[in-house]
Amino acid sequence: MKPTDYEPLPIPPPFMFGCGECTELLVTLGERVGMDGTFIPEQIAIAKHIVTAHPEEVPPPHTRRCGQCPKYAVRPDAADRWAEHRARDLFLPETIARLL
Ligand SMILES: [Zn+2]
Ligand SMILES: [Zn+2]
Repeated sequence: MKPTDYEPLPIPPPFMFGCGECTELLVTLGERVGMDGTFIPEQIAIAKHIVTAHPEEVPPPHTRRCGQCPKYAVRPDAADRWAEHRARDLFLPETIARLL
């Protein structure tokens, strides 16, 4: 997982630009993507923030091309992590968003 192998980050939805914390987290994420190494902690931080601060913006479960949603769907105890997984779609390319 090298940043150079990644697809470019998508344009985040407008609500994220309207939130100071989202903007700050996105800037940090952008910096990490440009450096060597992974940016998993930054990805998780943004997903957790979206679920906590913007729960109405979390996308619905994926109905195709997702190996994670069917697993989360049968685990009521993993509802928070499922929401974080879906929130990843908002700020990551699909291939990366659906890794976690
Ligand atoms: Zn926010
Ligand atoms: Zn999914």
